[in-house]
Amino acid sequence: MRITKHRQEILDVLDHSEEALSASAIHASLPHINLATIYRNLESFVEAGTITKLNLGGEEAQYEIQDEPHHHAICNECNKVIHFTVDDEKLVKEFALPGFLITNLEVTLRGTCATHKTKTK
Ligand SMILES: [Zn+2]
Ligand SMILES: [Zn+2]
Repeated sequence: MRITKHRQEILDVLDHSEEALSASAIHASLPHINLATIYRNLESFVEAGTITKLNLGGEEAQYEIQDEPHHHAICNECNKVIHFTVDDEKLVKEFALPGFLITNLEVTLRGTCATHKTKTK
């Protein structure tokens, strides 16, 4: 994949973010790149497997670079996302469905975080 300057800038923003980001959040950091261009690049990164697209139930999909595969827990009150890992092999055994081979495990938990009352913004 040819990395253009814009592509590299988008990757840098994701790389330096602690949080998963929506396309519009990336656009806020890179206002000189058209939002449609950001979307297009994000989708091609997802297809290439460079980044992971998360549908966490908000209005917008979020994107992140995963150093290692992990799962997400989302606060219903403040939409804070907690990134966590589990023993995937153990879970795959728990979830074993007859006649179904699990190749990818993506867990999204919903609940309430300890600090959602300090929501800012
Ligand atoms: Zn994550
Ligand atoms: Zn919360």
